[in-house]
Amino acid sequence: MATNGPTPDIDRARDIVSRIKDPEIPVLTIADLGVLRDVGVEGHRLVVTITPTYTGCPAMKAIEDDIRATLHGAGYHNVEVRMQLSPAWTTDWIEERARRKLEAYGIAPPRPVGSRGPIHCPQCRSTNTECISEFGSTACKALYRCLDCLEPFDYFKCI
Ligand SMILES: [Zn+2]
Repeated sequence: MATNGPTPDIDRARDIVSRIKDPEIPVLTIADLGVLRDVGVEGHRLVVTITPTYTGCPAMKAIEDDIRATLHGAGYHNVEVRMQLSPAWTTDWIEERARRKLEAYGIAPPRPVGSRGPIHCPQCRSTNTECISEFGSTACKALYRCLDCLEPFDYFKCI
């Protein structure tokens, strides 16, 4: 391990950080979500750049603490977590692979921004769905119900 060397081991750090889970959606990593923008080195310091999802989303503080704690645990002590607000995060940054994971977890993935297409039930794929509440289990989700299989489900709102 090069933790005491002059330059932090960037590839290992990037690998470690990209495995950190989103606190609200534990099947997704912050890399899946597109929240993790960059892991770089400035002198002896490791700089992790993240872009917050929803403004004021309380999960961001948890993610920041997680990054710091995980890297410290792996031997990186000189760590800075930087918030990059521009360009603003959008659900379009969520990778295809991550959308499939969301659906398998029972959350309907966000539509492409600007799309007005139907929302598929993650259980039976029916598009015969209705919105029950604009606010689901967290602020970034809405609660839907499938009118075919009658299962309620969370829809990850697009922004
Ligand atoms: Zn259904």
